Amino acid sequence: MASELIQAGAIGCPECDLLGEIPALAPGERARCSRCGFLLAVSYEDPFGRAFSFALSALIMLLVAMAFPFLSITASGISNSMTLLQTVSYLADYGADVIAFLVLVFVILVPAIMLLLILVLSLSLRRHRFHPLLQAPTRWLFHLNAWAMVEVFAIGVIVSLVKLAAMAHVELGLSFWAYLAFSGLFLLAFSSMDRLTVWSVIDRIRRSGT
Ligand SMILES: [Zn+2]
Repeated sequence: MASELIQAGAIGCPECDLLGEIPALAPGERARCSRCGFLLAVSYEDPFGRAFSFALSALIMLLVAMAFPFLSITASGISNSMTLLQTVSYLADYGADVIAFLVLVFVILVPAIMLLLILVLSLSLRRHRFHPLLQAPTRWLFHLNAWAMVEVFAIGVIVSLVKLAAMAHVELGLSFWAYLAFSGLFLLAFSSMDRLTVWSVIDRIRRSGT
């Protein structure tokens, strides 16, 4: 099943709605919209094996990021360190309930749910199986991506740290680096689940009647 996971067919560009034909793609090839250049499809050698490994590593990094101190701040001789989840509860304590909720949902929960979906789906598709119950979650996976703010958070934290560093001594914890690794691995895992590859393979499994 290594070659041409993506079948030739008509596709609408999600960015500019241009309707076009894409050819069957061999591993390593990618298709872009001829009008706006939007990346329509990428073909990987073993996309689901790749997605599974990245998703599993990302989940492990997320667990590490939750378990250890995220950063510690020392100012005027007073030191305070907090974990990733404590940053959420501190936000709530200081009255920023909405921001605390948004961080919890879009920075931790949504990415974690997406990674679990990627694990289940990639394992299943790699074995050439697709249970009808997976149909809806597969669609959610691609919708949810618009709500994952992993890299936004990572960049936000770095920018805040630069500002904080001028006022206090900031020490980055193990969890900070784990979160950075998690955000990179998360992007790699999701980008391995090429939408067109996923639906092409599902279509093929259905037609072969497994
Ligand atoms: Zn386009």
